[in-house]
Amino acid sequence: MLISKSFIPILKESPSEAKIKSHQLMLRVGMIKQSSAGIYSWLPLGFKIMKKIEQIVREEQNKIGAQEILMPTIQSSEIWKESGRYEDYGEEMLRIKDRQNREMLYGPTNEELVTDIFRSSIKSYKSLPQLLYHIQWKFRDEIRPRFGIMRCREFYMKDAYSFDINDEEALFSYNKFFLSYLKTFKRLDLTAIPMAADTGPIGGNLSHEFIILADTGESKIFTDKRIFDLNSDGTKLEKNSLNDLRKKYEQFYSVTDEKFDKAEFEKKVLETNRLITKGIEVGHIFYFGDKYSNPMGGSVDLPGGKKDFVKMGSYGIGVSRLVGAIIEAKYDQKNEVMKWPISVAPYDIAIIPMINKNDKSTLEKAENLNLELKKNNIDSIIDDTDENFSSKVKKMNLIGAPYQIIIGKKTEGDLLEFKEIGKETKYIKLSEIAKIIKEQKR
Ligand code: ATP
Ligand code: MG
Repeated sequence: MLISKSFIPILKESPSEAKIKSHQLMLRVGMIKQSSAGIYSWLPLGFKIMKKIEQIVREEQNKIGAQEILMPTIQSSEIWKESGRYEDYGEEMLRIKDRQNREMLYGPTNEELVTDIFRSSIKSYKSLPQLLYHIQWKFRDEIRPRFGIMRCREFYMKDAYSFDINDEEALFSYNKFFLSYLKTFKRLDLTAIPMAADTGPIGGNLSHEFIILADTGESKIFTDKRIFDLNSDGTKLEKNSLNDLRKKYEQFYSVTDEKFDKAEFEKKVLETNRLITKGIEVGHIFYFGDKYSNPMGGSVDLPGGKKDFVKMGSYGIGVSRLVGAIIEAKYDQKNEVMKWPISVAPYDIAIIPMINKNDKSTLEKAENLNLELKKNNIDSIIDDTDENFSSKVKKMNLIGAPYQIIIGKKTEGDLLEFKEIGKETKYIKLSEIAKIIKEQKR
């Protein structure tokens, strides 16, 4: 991709209206454009990153056996009246009337709609468990939309729902998502910590929020530092192994402020292990039994002939919020350098030719390199403008491809000036560069 032909409207200065670094960077490099309060258009750079995140989220859902569906954004109020949430949800729900004067709404979440889909088709325990998910826009009329796409009104969410025959099986499903979330965030190069959380308007009694540390986060957290050393390596997709995984995490005190209890914290966590800080909620999982299946009549035949309401859980990931969360975690604001994890980088590598008006040979070289890299499935962006070298580097540092090749007068023969952002420059062959990047992309 040539930068001159791309739609990446970069601003010279950081926009003053943005208060946190993700919002600043996203506006600065033209990843998004606000269309009205808390509602954004996604421009090519931002959209490309979000789509890569979405794909990782999808793959990890599929790995635990969840099936993808797509429910609409606009829902009928009827099902929300059945569950009793139509009134409860309050002003965050955007309510609309159609031309027949029917009450509709822009879905803030999908428990009702998915329960309706489930109850119309699944009648027997033999079809359980069912794990369904979709990735779809949500609307919540947040009282104070802020921080760009971190707390906006229209946002992109993955939400999954599990249906099981009894509590034991339902917890098995819950734990599958617990594992899948740890794996998803790891692939995004984020350390997300599961924390006991309140269930809010979704309901139920078992819930974890997945939180990444960031000073600009809106969640206050209280943890035992040792939880950061844990990981899900070796966990198998079977009951005992998943139970052990959750126990391993739950042995360390780790809660958000709604669940915080000072006496308990001080009793359970040695002073040297205490960490009180802020974080960003990137995912949230809930177990709520028959909260929806009961009022909505979602029941199945049991082995003995009786019927019972299915036990449900729901599982959200803020796909669009993750774009901002990764920036909060990775952007070096002081030096104005972003390095996207290779798994979601908008481009794998930036090629920066120093172009002289009378001599475009460096640009030709850049285009040839681009073709060679493409053969290796490596996606590059070339700065083909005739701006000076330092402003080109500045621009590429903001776009955040994790690797750069600089082509100058000195570039002769096979050796290229190659740099991984934040590391030393090396002079190596293209084949070696391709090898390094391919290795990282695996
Ligand atoms: P929050 O506490 O941040 O308001 P929530 O608990 O209301 O979030 P959930 O219903 O758990 O949100 O939604 C699942 C995920 O969707 C959240 O973990 C978060 O990543 C994302 N999300 C929720 N609200 C917003 C929003 N207004 N803007 C962007 N992402 C959001
Ligand atoms: Mg939540």
